[in-house]
Amino acid sequence: MCELLVHQFRCRSDNFGLLLYDPRSKLCASIDTPDGDTIWRELGAKGWQLTHIFNTHHHYDHVPGNEMLKEHSGCTIIGAKNDAKRIPGIDELMEDGDKYDFGANKISMLETPGHTLGSVCYFIEPEKILFTGDTLFSMGCGRLFEGSAELMWQSMQKILALPDDTQIYCGHEYTLSNAEFALEVEPDNLALQQRTNEVRTLRHAHKATLPVSLATEKATNPFLRSDSVEIKKKLGLQGHPALEVFTAIRSLKDNF
Ligand code: ZN
Ligand code: FE
Repeated sequence: MCELLVHQFRCRSDNFGLLLYDPRSKLCASIDTPDGDTIWRELGAKGWQLTHIFNTHHHYDHVPGNEMLKEHSGCTIIGAKNDAKRIPGIDELMEDGDKYDFGANKISMLETPGHTLGSVCYFIEPEKILFTGDTLFSMGCGRLFEGSAELMWQSMQKILALPDDTQIYCGHEYTLSNAEFALEVEPDNLALQQRTNEVRTLRHAHKATLPVSLATEKATNPFLRSDSVEIKKKLGLQGHPALEVFTAIRSLKDNF
């Protein structure tokens, strides 16, 4: 298996531009298109030719460069079948578990509704790379614009089932404010304290806090930790089902 490169850069105010490049086949994919001009410039700087766009969901800050980039490059746009009507320029539709050939690798789609009903993640199995869009953030998860807490909870379970050493790339740099909330609901979590310190140092140096491993997220992200005794106690939900705890964390975060 050949090694894939991921180039991550800032787009708009707090979105990430993400280019996935396969040196062997020279295929290059943009994960979402928060800003067509910035992405085009980064492609030029790398000398990579855009061949694909994989969209995670239809929101205005994830698709605005689709048509411009397709016009310039002739690339193929891939997205969720559920969201086909809302993704500009879409060419190929995928559903949960479908795999897309990308050189010698396959890119799998995981349907992860909650933030929107058509939200998906993309997983590259041998390389253990996961692109989560606005479904999962480091120490946070997306707001429930269309889906229920239960849908988002099920989506979190899908992510939790991936290998611990999966490297997670998210749609936004929200990590520091997420950490502040996470500490509010689980102040004694040592791993969380350590990661927050790391994140503060990175942000202070204007560096990205991503990618992050799933193992780190499991240890620090309250939305993946509905079984934490400390969180349950803090919310007065000892003995309550994990979904109820998750729902409470989500609504607390909405008002944080
Ligand atoms: Zn979004
Ligand atoms: Fe977004």
